[in-house]
Amino acid sequence: MGTTYHITVVTKDAPTPVNVSDAKELKRRIETLLESINQQMSTYLQDSEISQFNRYQKTDWFKVSHDFAFVVDNAQQLSQRTQGAFDISVLPFVELWGFGSKTQYTLPSDKQITALLAETGYDKLHARLQPPALKKDSAGLKIDLSAIAKGFAVDKLSAYLEKQGYLNHLVEIGGEIKAKGKNARGEAWKIAIEQPQQARAAASRILRISDTGVATSGDYRNYYIKDGVRFSHTINPQTGRPVTHKLASVTVVHKSCMIADAYATAIMVMGEIKGKRFILQNSLKANMIIRDADSFKSWSNLLVKYIKKGGDG
Ligand code: ADP
Ligand code: MG
Repeated sequence: MGTTYHITVVTKDAPTPVNVSDAKELKRRIETLLESINQQMSTYLQDSEISQFNRYQKTDWFKVSHDFAFVVDNAQQLSQRTQGAFDISVLPFVELWGFGSKTQYTLPSDKQITALLAETGYDKLHARLQPPALKKDSAGLKIDLSAIAKGFAVDKLSAYLEKQGYLNHLVEIGGEIKAKGKNARGEAWKIAIEQPQQARAAASRILRISDTGVATSGDYRNYYIKDGVRFSHTINPQTGRPVTHKLASVTVVHKSCMIADAYATAIMVMGEIKGKRFILQNSLKANMIIRDADSFKSWSNLLVKYIKKGGDG
């Protein structure tokens, strides 16, 4: 997935017998799970299922594994719920703007964009669970699960740990998180929302969470600046261009980390005003950091604790 992961497991007072007691063995099993998810959904691997589907030019059903079809099916439902703000068929644009697995920062022409808009769109993609398969209506359709697969993997690892009897744990992949139970001190897990560079001096926002997922999308981790314009890796599927509004980051708290991941990306596409309306209409829990001239402001309906830099909260 082109990123790192961290897992914290509380072994003390594990309420049920723990099957995998050796940390090394647990790590090996977790990496096997991650490798199998990569083999299904990573566009960084040429022989993954997703890369094979992306190269497939025919429009009949293409057999895939259950989890891959499950994630695509969920992505499709999220596209409908977000009126197309979330759209995994943006891959050709991600590549065109230089954010794909091969990075090259070139600005595409209007002509290239218009041509691709005709070939993309989630309405040209279909997912089936039984038997699991995908289908495209246009030969050029390619998909990218970068905005949802990390969340799925977090949920999957968390469920695995739970099954092993580790009811208290924290799983993080590339900034997407799931917290279960309590930390080693018997308290809710504490998560800090990363601040954009210039806002580092401001108060940090701390969330206390248990039994939920948290995902963040931002424009300050993966972006480039060309001729003074900031291009972020979030694409507006309607225009085929990177979003340019003032939203710097969105954090969504949802019991499913996969859904939180997708919503965070979708709200980045919607921007501050539409995003806020969407959060309220769908009773989501979220935090937004918004660029405001040279500084940042924030909006949140989460219970956040502010810790002043150098202070103790
Ligand atoms: P991060 O990877 O930093 O966690 P996101 O979850 O927002 O951030 O995923 C961003 C990635 O998702 C982009 O790099 C791109 O591959 C893909 N993407 C960009 N725009 C969209 C979109 N509108 N819908 C779905 N996926 C997108
Ligand atoms: Mg996302």
